Amino acid sequence: ALNPEPAYLQGLNAPQREAVLTTEGPVLVLAGAGTGKTAALTARLAHLIATRKAWPSQILAVTFTNKAAREMKERVSTITGGAVEGMPWLGTFHSVAARMLRSHAELVGLQSNFTILDTDDQLRLMKQLIVASNLDEKRWPARQLAGVIDRWKNRGWTPAHIDAGESEAFANGCGRELYAAYQDRLRTLNACDFGDLLLHMLTIFRAHPDVLEAYRERFRYILVDEYQDTNASQYDWLKLLAEPRRNLCCVGDDDQSIYSWRGAEVANILRFEADFPGAKVIRLEQNYRSTPHILGAATGLIAHNAGRLGKTLWTEVNAGERVKIIGVWDGPEEARRVGEEIEAHLRRGGSPDDCAILVRAQFQTREFEERFIAIGLAYQIVGGFRFYERAEIRDALAYLRLVAQPADDLAFERIVNQPKRGLGDKAVASIHAHARATGQPLLIAAAAMLDSDELQSRARNSLARFVSDIARWRQMAAELPHPELARILLDESGYTAMLQAERSAESAGRLENLAELARAMEEYESLGAFLEHVSLVMDNDSQASGDRVTIMTIHAAKGLEFPIVFLAGWEEGVFPSQRSLDEGGLASLEEERRLAYVAITRARSLATILHAANRRIYGQWTSSIPSRFVAELPKDHIEEETTMTGGESLWRAQWSEHGDPFAHVARPSRGPGWQRASAGGYNAQPQRIIEARASAISLGNKGRDDLSVGQRVFHSKFGYGTIEAIEGNKLEIEFEKAGRKRVLDSFVSAG
Ligand code: ATP
Ligand code: MG
Repeated sequence: ALNPEPAYLQGLNAPQREAVLTTEGPVLVLAGAGTGKTAALTARLAHLIATRKAWPSQILAVTFTNKAAREMKERVSTITGGAVEGMPWLGTFHSVAARMLRSHAELVGLQSNFTILDTDDQLRLMKQLIVASNLDEKRWPARQLAGVIDRWKNRGWTPAHIDAGESEAFANGCGRELYAAYQDRLRTLNACDFGDLLLHMLTIFRAHPDVLEAYRERFRYILVDEYQDTNASQYDWLKLLAEPRRNLCCVGDDDQSIYSWRGAEVANILRFEADFPGAKVIRLEQNYRSTPHILGAATGLIAHNAGRLGKTLWTEVNAGERVKIIGVWDGPEEARRVGEEIEAHLRRGGSPDDCAILVRAQFQTREFEERFIAIGLAYQIVGGFRFYERAEIRDALAYLRLVAQPADDLAFERIVNQPKRGLGDKAVASIHAHARATGQPLLIAAAAMLDSDELQSRARNSLARFVSDIARWRQMAAELPHPELARILLDESGYTAMLQAERSAESAGRLENLAELARAMEEYESLGAFLEHVSLVMDNDSQASGDRVTIMTIHAAKGLEFPIVFLAGWEEGVFPSQRSLDEGGLASLEEERRLAYVAITRARSLATILHAANRRIYGQWTSSIPSRFVAELPKDHIEEETTMTGGESLWRAQWSEHGDPFAHVARPSRGPGWQRASAGGYNAQPQRIIEARASAISLGNKGRDDLSVGQRVFHSKFGYGTIEAIEGNKLEIEFEKAGRKRVLDSFVSAG
């Protein structure tokens, strides 16, 4: 006992130590959730530094999220006492690759200060290219083509790699050309997208062996967390860097691979031993995170997946409650129950930040947010926007606000050209000018401009349609239930069709959010009451910071742990998602099941799963079936409670004996319910628009008294002319250059 053991080794079990101390050669740690993979990786980093195997700057450590990178940095500086000379290259694949690319940007035609586009910028750019190459935006929505290019990039393919077959499948057979054009455009803008960060580095490594050599020389040790979610280009990048020294340590869990929809390839785990012969594979089997019941439930569930490597998990913890399954009547009751459970935890002296609510899809957060606001429970949404802050929800609210209150100029501005109706900046500027001059709200000013020549005829026609739509919806608002109004309004405005045309995972989520908005509206007596509620909720931003309940998607919870976890909405069509059921493949169902495994294993002492018997969609009660994943949980580890009669639910027994008991029943379409209703859509509207005008919107038509027939005046667009006739605020003018026009007096100055 001459040398006391360094702190970072204390408490580690034997295989963890092996993962830390086997510094030379390839190491793969393959182990289940909560077995201390991340802990071992962090200790390894500390060990390499403490024993001077390498300077921090000679170590590359890759994590899956920026949050994980920050945590690892903190843990390393605590372990090494903060005395670290230089910092390791520690971050996500994207952040590390971006840092590299800044030093070599010129090799791929960029400057070192290149910008990294976010998804919105990326889509805007793609739209421009689609228009420029005369593609039909409806047939080839920007989001879809951007998704295709992302996939190619995730596979490490530059335009030169795209073979004829791939190319032909997209953009009318011009996939490769569009991709090349997109890359050219990015270069001109001195920009790249996320996928480029790695792809450019791969290109550079392949074309400039000296650059690759320098990084190989520098990085003596490479560490990778959440290895099961690396995609092909990330794998190639790692392999190129690690090849000569082979000091690569990857940790992962094939059962937690949940990003295949973003190109992650769990096969990378299987390839590891072949690509790095002699790799030491270490298995960790002791779980330090969860109670035996939580572990047993998760293990029993994941055993239903066929394609897995399989592993054993055990824990020394022997106390703990069974996983609680709560069947509730409907969504609001689900939120109420969770609120009550959390309040009980607080009364026992617990803290809100012990608790997390994990959902499958973003739209599920709304009911919890509203409940927590109502009972004054502080919460945070991690990795996403709060419900009413999402772009599509704000757009929908803007439509509703404008219908309820035509003077709402902010709402007008937000949606006048959303979806696109050819009302560009120029047209909007003109409406603004008239509104300012006359002191009218934008919508009223717009209506007044319709029978003048102030706008180009295309802009005028679509503005006429917009104004008359608003007027018509205003009339409907008096007659229809307001959730119905919301649906009609989103359909007829073309907003729903716009999202449907995108055909992406993201737009499906947005449609779900809109369906959820209509559900939310049902709880309020009138449109006005609902809008007031929303403005109060939005104002709730300034919650005191400190202890908060966390609400997040399962995807965002990867790698994290919480003492108490609530898993909401375990119903067929929600989880597994409708999308995964529609696609039907075993692969997508297995990915959903891995997601369920990740969800349960986030819990340390208590996991509660909830499912509702009814979800309300457009004022109609639709009964829902508990998720098959609930039926797959081993009975020994769960405790079922249902607020409905019957105790041990019938469906459960049926399911295990005969499979899906409801297979013969038409499934409620739980997904984007708008789809059914929108067949008519924007384009199917009859051409009666111009006539309809803004009849329901009152116009202040009083003209100016400083103008008279025969007077010579100046108009901002048409120049000089003579007034021929005056009718309220409209003037008939014979312009010296532009001919005879009907204009508004607000655009005219005397003499
Ligand atoms: P996941 O698969 O979810 O990413 P993981 O395998 O990375 O899990 P960690 O997050 O590293 O697991 O560890 C899970 C919990 O167990 C943490 O709270 C960690 O501090 C604790 N832990 C890890 N190793 C040990 C150990 N040897 N002794 C005691 N506790 C440990
Ligand atoms: Mg981990």
